[in-house]
Amino acid sequence: MKVPFYGHVKQYHNIKSEIDANIHEVLESGQYVMGPMLKRFEQELAAYHGMKYAVGVGNGTDALWLTFMALGIGPGDECITHPNTFFATAEAIWIADATAVFVDSDPKTNCIDPARIEAAITPRTKALVPVHLYGQCADMKAIRKIADKHKLVVIEDNAQAIGARGDGFKIGELSDAVCTSFITQKNLGTFGDGGAVITNNDKIDGVIRKLRNHGSDKRSCHSMGYNSRLDDIHAGVLSAKLKHIDEWNDLRRTWSARYSAGLENARNLTLPYEVPGSRHVFHLYVVETKHPEHRDALLDFLNHDGIDAKCHYPIAIHQQEGYPWGKQARIPGPLHNSDRNAACCVSLPMFPELTEKEVDFVIEKTLAWDKSLGEALKAVG
Ligand SMILES: *Cc1c(COP(=O)(O)O)cnc(C)c1O
Repeated sequence: MKVPFYGHVKQYHNIKSEIDANIHEVLESGQYVMGPMLKRFEQELAAYHGMKYAVGVGNGTDALWLTFMALGIGPGDECITHPNTFFATAEAIWIADATAVFVDSDPKTNCIDPARIEAAITPRTKALVPVHLYGQCADMKAIRKIADKHKLVVIEDNAQAIGARGDGFKIGELSDAVCTSFITQKNLGTFGDGGAVITNNDKIDGVIRKLRNHGSDKRSCHSMGYNSRLDDIHAGVLSAKLKHIDEWNDLRRTWSARYSAGLENARNLTLPYEVPGSRHVFHLYVVETKHPEHRDALLDFLNHDGIDAKCHYPIAIHQQEGYPWGKQARIPGPLHNSDRNAACCVSLPMFPELTEKEVDFVIEKTLAWDKSLGEALKAVG
């Protein structure tokens, strides 16, 4: 049996008529950039979050750095985040010419550890940039408290957790802006690139609307800006898919619960942790081997059996070759948890269109690996 890592084409087939109808509508409208479909999707996306504004942009990276620009974050300013995330979180800070400050992650959630933030704050600190890693909300209550005390802005990197909820808070409720990505593999993904900034802040909304469109919000009038728009065809695809996101996230939760029940007794693995009272939407289902030297063995074992397991993210940002490439960066303390996460992580296949058979096959093979490792370790004594 082969188990793929993604189910994009299956997902398309499941709601083909809805997606095709929206694409057709855009094609027939003749308005492909900044047209009515984009406006419609922006309204639906803002409403989905219970917030005032959503601005479609070219991708998730642009969503982040355009937000930094809109907040006046630039040279000399520091943004605090953690290094065990997709590269773009820090890349966006560097595109804005600001300094990335890496603090350690929480050992259970792998999101930023709020207990490490205050020691990293200096007079240059302007923003906290938590990532809702793997589909689970960072501890926004603690993060907001620190931000208020030190008068910092908070920008949520929500590329991985659309539809998630924290313990007693919603995404967007405790920050200045929420940045998301619609690249194909995200929980809400289009057939290409896309992104959005969701906010209640009039100024952020207004500035990004201009910045994304050559600094223009009035025909022929420009200030310095960029070209980073969400095309109407993508907006149409996303509008069709947004109606299904809760049901798809529920399926991800069903499969993750099945994985966790099936792998409960695996002695050489740590399973994903879900904060009680929260809704984790399992963009990724990431297990960790108890020892770094066992990670590649598990990955090879699963890949050999036709299971497309991967690693997210095997090289933390501060471990990348040539880091930090002359860019501004600072590491105020040890990064033990981020390093462990990078060294031990294995992502099992996770997408809504998985089947029970596929999930059970992955469980069976993972348990077989766990058992053989257990026996090998016993033989060594
Ligand atoms: C995907 C992702 C991004 C960037 O999104 P792009 O659309 O690829 O630019 C940023 N941060 C995180 C955590 C991501 O997973």
